[in-house]
Order: sequence, then C-alpha cells, then structure tokens
Amino acid sequence: RAKEQSQAGHIVFDTTMYDRAVELLQLETDLRWAVERQELCIFYQPIICIKTGKITGFEALVRWQHPERGLISPTEFIPVAEETGLIIPIGQWVLTESCKQLRQWQLQFPAIKPLTLNVNLSGKQFSQPHLIEQISQILQDTGLSSSNLKLEITETAIIASPQKATSILKQLKAFGLQLCIDDFGTGYSSLAYLHNFPIDVLKIDRSFVNRIDSDTEQFAIVRAIVTLADNLGMSVVAEGVETINQLAQLQLLQCQQAQGYLFSKPLDQEQARNLLASGQSFLRI
Ligand code: C2E
Ligand code: MG
Ligand code: MG
Ligand code: MG
Repeated sequence: RAKEQSQAGHIVFDTTMYDRAVELLQLETDLRWAVERQELCIFYQPIICIKTGKITGFEALVRWQHPERGLISPTEFIPVAEETGLIIPIGQWVLTESCKQLRQWQLQFPAIKPLTLNVNLSGKQFSQPHLIEQISQILQDTGLSSSNLKLEITETAIIASPQKATSILKQLKAFGLQLCIDDFGTGYSSLAYLHNFPIDVLKIDRSFVNRIDSDTEQFAIVRAIVTLADNLGMSVVAEGVETINQLAQLQLLQCQQAQGYLFSKPLDQEQARNLLASGQSFLRI
C-alpha cells in the first residue's frame, strides 16, 4: 500500500511512501560520494563460447559496497544514478577501471587470446556529448585495443531517438568498437529495423532463456532471434543460462555464446584472476 485515494480524488501519501522518498533521497546523497569514497567496485562475469567451453571475455558489472547498508545491487542504484545524472561519472569510472583491469589480464595471460570486455552503457551515457573522445582517451591510457571493447546498450536507449542513435552507433563502430544490444527482446524495437543499426551482438534476455527447455514458445522465440541475428551477420549471447538443459537447447540452436550461473556468477577481481590463472574450460555438451 503505497498510496491512497482521498475522497476528493487527490493522492494522499502515507508513511510508507514518505519513508521510501526519504530513503531514495538518502541513497542519492550517498551515491554522490560513492565514487570518491571508493565504495564502488566491479565484478566480472565470464562469457563462454558454447562450442569450445572457453572464456571469450567478461562483462563488467558494478557493485556498491555501502558503509551501512552493505552491498547494493545495480538494479537499485543505477536508476537513481540515471535520474540524477550521476551515471556519467559512475559510468566513466566503470569504463576506466574495467579497461585497465582487462588490459592487465591480457598481459598476464597472453595465451588466452583475445579476451574481450563488455561494459554496460546507460541511455544518458550513450547520448552524452564527447562519448567517443572519452572512450578514445580511456583506451589510449589503458592500452586496450578498441576491438576488444564491447559496449552494451538497451533497445530503449536506441529507440528513444533512432536517428541520433544510428549516428552515434556508426561513430562508435567506425572507431573499432563492438556493439551489443542488451536484454534483447524486452524492449519495443521492431525487428524490421534492426538491420539499420550497426550492431554486432544480440544478448538475449534471460527471461527467454529461462524456460527454453520447457516451453516450446520460448524455444521458438530464441530460435527466431538466432536465425535473425545470423541473417543480419550478428552473433548471439544467451544471458542467464542456469541449467544444462538450457545449454543443450542453445547448442541445438547454434547459439554462439552464453553467460550465466551455470558457468559462473559475477566474480570479484581476485576470483576472476584465479579463474584465468587456472586455465579452466567450462563444460561442453
Ligand atoms: P545486465 O547488463 O543484463 O547484466 C546481467 C545481469 O544478470 C547481472 O545482474 C548478472 O549478475 C545477472 N545474471 C547473470 N547470470 C545470471 C543467471 O544465470 N541467473 C540470474 N538470475 N541472473 C544472472 P547485476 O550484476 O545485478 O546487474 C543488473 C543490471 O544492472 C545489469 O543488467 C545492467 O543493466 C545494470 N548494470 C550493472 N553494471 C552496470 C554499469 O556499470 N553501468 C550501467 N549503466 N548499468 C549497469
Ligand atoms: Mg549487460
Ligand atoms: Mg542483460
Ligand atoms: Mg538486465
């Protein structure tokens, strides 16, 4: 019960809603300091080649270690960061740190080649001026090659302003970066004009992958996405793969890559490094 209609039809706030507002405000205030106080950290989730079982790269996923509230999920604070514009410095920090980290691993483990890095870009970040210059600077500073960096954007960020998005995507592409659509299938993008965007990878949202082994409709949807991607020269990553049965279905559909708890949860820096050092391959069917 967040709100109640008064008799006159006005919305009357009750304490629950008031508490929530105060909490949000506090979160926002705390978030302003989070970068400087070094409370943010990055976890890395392996992305696996289904055919070989080998790691192809990592997705960088930000975390917030709040001094009083403990670990806060990005699903909670990224929307606040978006709303307040704090996503710009936070996103910049994530890009810089993760590129630095990946470059370090590339140098430490030259036999695993070429490790790639996926970084999420929010809508605001995507449309900020000087995005290319910023990324270019980061790559130059860290020594990471542009072809090893994959930017993940959502359909919503593109659809908000398709013409502007096309121009930004083309510039990023010309710069040598790879472009992914994240959570594919959950937005409203028309499949018909997907080919207008210079996209390299579709990441199928985990809501479709979830029941791929038990629901024939889900299976048909994923099959359609893989076929479409194939025809458009894009590759596919299945998100949220949790079971062997799901993996088996994905392999049947010749989906190229997968990410999910079946292989690994997002790892902290040390765990990810150990994984690379172990040279471990993941299961294949
Ligand atoms: P996303 O980009 O779609 O990332 C995948 C999310 O699915 C991650 O949640 C990951 O931990 C989770 N996941 C991976 N495998 C599985 C699985 O097998 N089962 C289930 N149930 N979940 C799985 P996380 O880390 O909580 O991140 C949530 C969202 O927050 C991300 O979704 C992304 O949209 C956003 N996010 C995270 N880091 C950043 C960032 O640095 N910048 C921006 N703009 N957004 C970020
Ligand atoms: Mg993502
Ligand atoms: Mg996703
Ligand atoms: Mg998501």
